[in-house]
Amino acid sequence: MTNPSIIKTWQQRPLIISGPCSAESEQQLVETAMALASTGKVAMLRAGIWKPRTKPGLFEGMGSIALQWLKLASSLSGLPTCVEVANAKHVEEALHMGVDVLWIGARTTVNPFSVQEIADVLRNTDVPILVKNPVNPDIELWAGAIERLQAVHVKNIGMIHRGFSTYGDSNYRNAPLWHIPIEMKRRYPEMLLICDPSHICGNRHMLHQVAQRSIDLGYHGLMVESHPNPDKALSDAKQQILPGDLMVMLNNLVWRSEQSSEQEFVDALTKLRARIDNLDEELLGLIAERMKLAEKIGEYKRDNNITILQTQRWNEILEKSIQKGIKLGLSPAFIARYFDAVHLESISRQNSVMYAKKEETK
Ligand code: PEP
Ligand code: MN
Repeated sequence: MTNPSIIKTWQQRPLIISGPCSAESEQQLVETAMALASTGKVAMLRAGIWKPRTKPGLFEGMGSIALQWLKLASSLSGLPTCVEVANAKHVEEALHMGVDVLWIGARTTVNPFSVQEIADVLRNTDVPILVKNPVNPDIELWAGAIERLQAVHVKNIGMIHRGFSTYGDSNYRNAPLWHIPIEMKRRYPEMLLICDPSHICGNRHMLHQVAQRSIDLGYHGLMVESHPNPDKALSDAKQQILPGDLMVMLNNLVWRSEQSSEQEFVDALTKLRARIDNLDEELLGLIAERMKLAEKIGEYKRDNNITILQTQRWNEILEKSIQKGIKLGLSPAFIARYFDAVHLESISRQNSVMYAKKEETK
């Protein structure tokens, strides 16, 4: 069913996908596709056909008719196509019209019913599908969507990091929360992972910096929204860029590979890593020793009926360590996070000591 050359495109690194947020007209799609193809760097044309909008009355996409425009844009430009699907009907229509790759949007990844419905239609097919992170920072929902596709033997699955909704003011439209995609990369090391800086930023001026950050973390590609007249776009006007500006951005990004076979580099890295491993071992030993002391203190508190939490002492440790850390070039936020973890563990150890006493005296 799937065009065999699409798998080759899917394996291209970096994999660059671009196109408008929404398909608006035949002319817009053809113009965008031709401009993107002429960059020689874009591998796939994206376009939203059915748009999930937060409020009714906003532009909800042109619907099925736009699939014909996409087909024409693809045949004229030679670019394969990629479309968002949110239910079984979308999948069937898109595949019927020759769409090459599908993606599940952030508002759909949150809904296991919808993801399962999409998975059921794709059972045993070789249609590549990308799964955007859910709107909320729930890593298990993202992983769950991938597991649903794996369970029906979809062979080519990829992940798109598009950021997470937050409440209140933020520099980002959707906060990147990089630790979540990093954990996904740890869980699925072989799986395609691309970044969508457009929906993370919600503006044009931060695209480069976010895209670079993702490349530095070893992402395999980018999905960037582009439009022949971004300011007039019917959706996401603030974040779309001209295909020519995309080309400039792609040329200015520093592309990195995960490994190098250069001997000098490998040797230097091995030496530094050995030193880090030694330090980590020492740190673990010291932390274990610290916890033993906390347990001892727990015994004294238990025997003297003293509370585990001593706010003043905790404040002193934190204050002193933050000041020391600053002098050593460590950020206050890091010191606070580190001591928070240590303190919580210490409290839990002291709790166990008190609980053990209760058990003994029963
Ligand atoms: C989109 O790609 O245009 C889109 C709707 O994205 P998301 O699902 O990330 O909001
Ligand atoms: Mn969009």
